[in-house]
Amino acid sequence: MAVYKADAIVIRSREYGESDKLITLFSREKGKLEAVAKGVRKPKSKQRGGTQLFTYADFLLYKGRNLDIVNQVNPKESFIHLWDDFDRMIAASGVAELLDAATLREQAEPQLFTLTLGSLFLMKIVDPYIVQATFALKILKFIGLLPGLDRCVSCGKQLKGEQIFLCVDDGVMCQTCKKDKYGMMVSPGSAAFMQQLLSVNIDRLDRLRWSKKMKEEIHQSLMFYSENKLEKRLLAWRTGNEM
Ligand SMILES: [Zn+2]
Repeated sequence: MAVYKADAIVIRSREYGESDKLITLFSREKGKLEAVAKGVRKPKSKQRGGTQLFTYADFLLYKGRNLDIVNQVNPKESFIHLWDDFDRMIAASGVAELLDAATLREQAEPQLFTLTLGSLFLMKIVDPYIVQATFALKILKFIGLLPGLDRCVSCGKQLKGEQIFLCVDDGVMCQTCKKDKYGMMVSPGSAAFMQQLLSVNIDRLDRLRWSKKMKEEIHQSLMFYSENKLEKRLLAWRTGNEM
């Protein structure tokens, strides 16, 4: 059987069969992968910790006919800070589920890998919902679903300091062009903050602060936009929205 290595993060983990887990990995080399981790729900399994959600590890996998199989896991980081705190857990789950929804299997996206790994680390020191919102804006831009926020896609008007309309079909629009289109209005303050999140280097996120109102509005509009664009319900995002 062919064996391959993956430098990867566990972005989804669910029970499978009697004592196995089916895990979704996001790897540096191959993008999203799915694999079975056999027997890891048994108390004595050595691989138990390595297949937990968010674990960053070196994996050795067997190429299976249908599903690949985890042969070895050497964890490098288990992100204890995400498990210690409810908000961090919800925000990190939001990152993982959006990454899963926005990517296809076996397409290497090293930039997204770096962004995801960096986001999980950053949640230790930065408001986790700011990290989640930044991740969403950057991944939506990366896959081309929301390229920019500063210009109306219809008339080209600059939208600096103005309300923006997140139109599900077309992207960002001005108030005049939105007419009866399906989407969500974002206030000037939140729009400017989103613009900042989109362009900031994530290492500088610790300098940014938002108000409760902006947090709610940005979270809700990104959830609405992503769910409609990706045609998928984002459960962790919905939980976060109620916080
Ligand atoms: Zn316009």
